[in-house]
Amino acid sequence: RAYNFCAGPAALPDEVLFQAQEEIADWHGVGTSVMEMSHRSKEFVSIAEEATQDFRDLLSIGDDYEVLFLQGGASSQFSMIPLNLLGDNPVADYVNTGQWSKKAIAEAKRYCDVNVVATSESQNFSTVPAFEDWALSDNPAYLHYTPNETIGGVEFDYIPEVKAPLVADYSSSILSESLDVSKFGLIYAGAQKNIGPAGLTIVIVRKDLLGKAKDFTPAMFNYETHAKSGSMNNTPPTYSWYLAGLVFKWLKRQGGVSAMAELNKRKAEKLYGFIDNSAFYANPVEPRYRSRMNVPFTLADDQLDSVFLKKADEAKLLNLAGHRSVGGMRASIYNAVSENAVDALIAFMADFEKAHG
Ligand code: PLP
Repeated sequence: RAYNFCAGPAALPDEVLFQAQEEIADWHGVGTSVMEMSHRSKEFVSIAEEATQDFRDLLSIGDDYEVLFLQGGASSQFSMIPLNLLGDNPVADYVNTGQWSKKAIAEAKRYCDVNVVATSESQNFSTVPAFEDWALSDNPAYLHYTPNETIGGVEFDYIPEVKAPLVADYSSSILSESLDVSKFGLIYAGAQKNIGPAGLTIVIVRKDLLGKAKDFTPAMFNYETHAKSGSMNNTPPTYSWYLAGLVFKWLKRQGGVSAMAELNKRKAEKLYGFIDNSAFYANPVEPRYRSRMNVPFTLADDQLDSVFLKKADEAKLLNLAGHRSVGGMRASIYNAVSENAVDALIAFMADFEKAHG
């Protein structure tokens, strides 16, 4: 298999794919694929419950939180959050650190007064605005932020301490390190980076925040609907849920999220270290806030971008093009991207620099 640096849908662990391959047509002697099972069968319910418990174990999620396995992508959460958490409060606080924050803000504006407490847009999203300068509202329904901006490669290195319930889009960094879930009102993540295949979105929501959805909230957009039905109000994305479960087991075998955190730190330090020591490659993000998951970089001459990508493809280093909105390169180095993959990328970049620098 090639080394895959895609930002999402992203690489999955080899072991998970091979296990899925083995089980694809006949899961545990049942005679059908997981794809062909009723979501209400005892077999699938056991798969779902085990995956949910493993996820809870990995992040030490307390009983005061619901864990929901939903569809609609992280993007649906941009509207589900205000619809469910505003109650009668007309105001929500948002931090703007990049393209995903902006999308969340744009959607929330349909439902409430959005107070953008801080933005790094004038710095081209290359940093996180200093916390002491945030203009917090007196009594917002919640504060939303994006701990890791997948496109700009900007990551918070702390959890903001605010009075309002904290809501975080962890799509591109969930399970990459340990997390004190008790500091949050709600955490959400699209699956297709660190969890499993696309089609699944996980929401962790504190139980006391439920029950405030607006009257006009569609049933399928109401967290309570899903909490009351064990995420089985309708047919859930069964195969994605099953594959996520295999990823959680794999994570446990690796030593859990603290072991992943060490590995992720090492991978990121190697790659940034190489970029910083080169006059040919550059990363624009303030070092303190560089993402451990998504590493954007540019070449000294952008005319070389297409050659770089073609040669990388030939070397089986795939999906290194930056997001279409920003160009340049981006290496996404999620949990399933091994240290060997990062080493191979660095060796390739060094050779390319020698040939073209
Ligand atoms: N939020 C972040 C941080 C993302 O990286 C992405 C997608 O890549 C999204 C939201 C949107 O996710 P989805 O495509 O699942 O709606």
